[in-house]
Amino acid sequence: MCYIAIVFIIIYFKEVKKGKYMGVCNMKITVSLIKADVGGWPGHVRVHPRLIEAAKKKLSEAKNNGIIIDYHVFNAGDDLQLLMTHRKGTDSPEIHELAWNTFKEATQVAKKLKLYGAGQDLLSETFSGNLKGMGPGIAEMEFEERPSEPIVVFAADKTEPGAFNLPIFRIFADPFNTAGLVISPTMNLGFKFSIMDVYEGNIIDLNSPEEMYYILALIGQPGRFVIKYVYSRKEEIGIAAAVSTDRLNLIAGKYVGKDDPVAIIRGQHGLPAIGEITEPFAFPHLVAGWMRGSHHGPLMPVPLKYSQCTRFDGPPRIVGLGFQLAEGHLIGPVDLFDDPAFDLARKKANEIADYLRRHGPFEPHRLSAEEMEYTALPQVLDKIKNRWRKVAPKAKKAWAFGSLTD
Ligand SMILES: [Mg+2]
Repeated sequence: MCYIAIVFIIIYFKEVKKGKYMGVCNMKITVSLIKADVGGWPGHVRVHPRLIEAAKKKLSEAKNNGIIIDYHVFNAGDDLQLLMTHRKGTDSPEIHELAWNTFKEATQVAKKLKLYGAGQDLLSETFSGNLKGMGPGIAEMEFEERPSEPIVVFAADKTEPGAFNLPIFRIFADPFNTAGLVISPTMNLGFKFSIMDVYEGNIIDLNSPEEMYYILALIGQPGRFVIKYVYSRKEEIGIAAAVSTDRLNLIAGKYVGKDDPVAIIRGQHGLPAIGEITEPFAFPHLVAGWMRGSHHGPLMPVPLKYSQCTRFDGPPRIVGLGFQLAEGHLIGPVDLFDDPAFDLARKKANEIADYLRRHGPFEPHRLSAEEMEYTALPQVLDKIKNRWRKVAPKAKKAWAFGSLTD
């Protein structure tokens, strides 16, 4: 009888360690990065320090009350970023409500200072249990903290979630970027990509390396297909990356700005090294966003001190912060792009920005017609819609843009 009881106790604690019985004792750590633009200073340039102060005060109270383990507040251009660690799992109503109330309080400060677009990303008046579809961008992941747990958080301004497609593909699937894919026996197993069709609201799982061409066939269209999660194919490691895929304009059905994205990536010991995670950003690839969310521009990696978009409200830029986790406490940050090793990327980004700017209102600097549907341009075209005269037959469409699953 005693023997059976001991076996039962051992099994129970093994299950608890795996993260089961979360309500009783969740050993896992959740990292939540939640962001919103609740007021720019001036225009769309950056977050005012008093908004950051207000957010810190609110999250400090939550830490003292034991709701979260730790937090770090920062800005990516005009987006207020709340990084939180806790044991409540992803999609926790308590954590989402905390973020919502923090953004609401920051909005009050923004309104007092008459900052630009105060509260603009909060699409609803009241919180209804989950932030999804309410405006703020969310990247969250839950995992068992390893003996050493490095994480990197990225936050970009003046672009869209698909901006992460190219760098995340390179981090987890390109051996010319990530040496570990060839050298590490664990990374050798490859990674699983969960890709979301943000127009249809569908998700598909594809494995790298064997389904790499399918992955690229989708994510090469970053306005529609967005990498949402990446998982190690070694089950014990689990989730490796999470990206926000919230697209405000698709939710609101009108132009409300681009959905400046955030991402969380775990590193080392069977996962990419920190240097393999930062390496793709040495190439300032072209992304959609910039002025009025209507232009292509290079994504420039910058330290926090340059996390402000001034030239033509840009060019689009990204900050990267590194932390070690210690029982959920955030040891850091290290400002990863505050390194002369990224000077060349910044110089190239500025050259590309200069070249593109000379195109003025012409494509490909301006976005394609399909993307412009979510800007204010249709209202302008409406003004002249009755002035067209028929002079030739209408062209037949070879392929209609639409559902891939019908
Ligand atoms: Mg922004």
